[in-house]
Amino acid sequence: MEIVFLGTGGGRINLLKQIRGTGGFRINSTSANIHIDPGPGALVHSVKLRQSLLDIDAVIVTHGHLDHYSDAMVLIEGMSAYGLKKRGIFICNKNSIDYVSPWHKSKIGELYLVVNGEKKTFKTEKGSFEIETMAMKHDEESAFGFKLFMDEKVIGHITDTEYFDGLEKGFEGCDLLIVNCIKPEPDKYKGHLETADVIKILKKAKPKKCVITHMGIKMLRAGPLKQAERIKNETGIETVAAKDGMRIIC
Ligand SMILES: [Zn+2]
Ligand SMILES: [Zn+2]
Repeated sequence: MEIVFLGTGGGRINLLKQIRGTGGFRINSTSANIHIDPGPGALVHSVKLRQSLLDIDAVIVTHGHLDHYSDAMVLIEGMSAYGLKKRGIFICNKNSIDYVSPWHKSKIGELYLVVNGEKKTFKTEKGSFEIETMAMKHDEESAFGFKLFMDEKVIGHITDTEYFDGLEKGFEGCDLLIVNCIKPEPDKYKGHLETADVIKILKKAKPKKCVITHMGIKMLRAGPLKQAERIKNETGIETVAAKDGMRIIC
C-alpha cells in the first residue's frame, strides 16, 4: 500500500497562499484507491503526481471546510468515468454533502453519510475495505476521524479537531496514523491540534508510525522536521513530517 500526499498545508493563510498544497492525500492499495479530503489543488496535484482520477474507488470528506472538500466534485467526475457511469463510493459527513451538486450526487455509486462510531464495509471492483469513524471536536461539528482496515493494515486519520479526553481511544492499533497537526504551540484559536497534543495522543494510541500533516503557517515557520523530531523523541514512535508529493509505503 502506498500513501501519496497531494497537499500538506492547513489553515486559512496557507489555503489562499498555497505555501503548501491543500489537495489532501490518497491511499493506493490492492483493494481500493481512496482520496481523502480533496481541498483546492487535489485535481492539479493528482495530475502532476500521476494519480489518475479515473481509478479512484472512493472519496472521503471528513468535514465541510473548503480545504477539505473543494475538489470533491472533480474527483466524482473522475470516479464516474467522466460522469458516464454511476460509480464509486463517497463517504462524508452530513454537512459536506450539501457542497456536492445534484448532478454529481447522481453519479455516485454508493453514498455513505457517516454515523460516528459505526463500522462499515465497502466492496470495490478490486476487493473491500472497512471504515470505523469517530466524532471530532471542531468548529464544523459533524467532522469525523477514521480508521481504515484494508490490505491487512490499519490506517488512522485524525482530521481537524482539538484535543479532548478519550480522543486517542478511537485510534489504537494503527499501523500508520496520519494526524492534522496545524500548529507547534497553543494559541487563542481553538479547534486544532498542536504538537503537544500529538505527543499525548501517540503515548496512548501507540501507532507503529505517525505522519503529521495539514500544517499551518506557524507550524511551517517553526519547522515541521523539528516538530516531528520532538514528537519522536518524546514518544519513541517514528514520526514523519509530510511534504507535498511525499509517498509512504505501508
Ligand atoms: Zn482543515
Ligand atoms: Zn476544518
